[in-house]
Amino acid sequence: MITASPGARITSPALADWRQLWRDSVTDSRELLSLLELNHLADRLPADDAGFSLRVPRGFVARMRPGNAHDPLLRQVLPQLAEMEQVPGFTTDAVGDLAAREAQGVLHKYQGRALLIASGSCAINCRYCFRRHFPYGDEMAAAGQWRQALEHVRQDTSINELILSGGDPLALSTSKLEELSHGLAGLTHIIRLRIHTRLPIVLPERIDTPFTDWLKSLPLQKVVVLHANHANEFDDSVDAACARMRDAGATLLNQSVLLRGINDDADTLAALSERMFAAGVLPYYLHQLDRVQGAAHFEVSDAQAQSLIEDMRGRLPGYLVPKLVREVGGDPSKRPL
Ligand code: SF4
Repeated sequence: MITASPGARITSPALADWRQLWRDSVTDSRELLSLLELNHLADRLPADDAGFSLRVPRGFVARMRPGNAHDPLLRQVLPQLAEMEQVPGFTTDAVGDLAAREAQGVLHKYQGRALLIASGSCAINCRYCFRRHFPYGDEMAAAGQWRQALEHVRQDTSINELILSGGDPLALSTSKLEELSHGLAGLTHIIRLRIHTRLPIVLPERIDTPFTDWLKSLPLQKVVVLHANHANEFDDSVDAACARMRDAGATLLNQSVLLRGINDDADTLAALSERMFAAGVLPYYLHQLDRVQGAAHFEVSDAQAQSLIEDMRGRLPGYLVPKLVREVGGDPSKRPL
């Protein structure tokens, strides 16, 4: 087994096998607390992980600070009793995904773009996840060699950008991604592939040579939208993964979620922008929390969110200030705040 204890970094000349690292993830909340010397918090864990199991790669755990119950990375993954509260306005389909479904695993919300639910799996389970209740079992674009999804894309020539989302699309094997790119051959209306993924942040070993060879080979514009919420999520291994994707011709952007107790102050958000830029990543969106059941304790008011962005504008160049948005089901685009 390949393991990393808190404070240690996985270093090896060749990249460790990401599937092995995935299998070796921490999935037991008590084990996570023990690794971080926080056993006294075990009494505050909700039963059955509040119905959304804990999962976190050990390399990500290694970026948490032992003994710190308020660690911003820990707070993103540790089940909380607050998740059990039913709060009015917080639902199981917070962004209207089900209404936007057009074919198996295909969501069509915005003009010119189609989103494929490529995979239902993630290497990490984020407690605020807007799709924590999504019926992935029925909605997998990669099923049957992407047949239904590709047929939909073939027929709708208004689509020029495909977005791979999930779950995490990089949970798929590279050979599964190759099936998709083979299926896209000849679809001249598709000019761009966008990949929404948190894997390069939480399991950077996923960005291995077969993947970057595949990315490089695509005759399309390539955009990889990462998901990091705090500067501490970056380390040398993430920087190296970003460099490999840039070398493969991808433009790198990042979207964050504004989370109470994690990144809801201007210093933290500014540090995140600076840190991601050092890794060659530009800020894209700062999302107001999607109002998903179980995540109400993470919500930040719109007034505070707007004041944070104003503060960032005052201290950062414009290209380091993300767009503050909310996703509203049925809207023709993200709604700027
Ligand atoms: S990586 Fe994204 S899709 Fe997966 S649990 Fe986290 S927020 Fe949800």
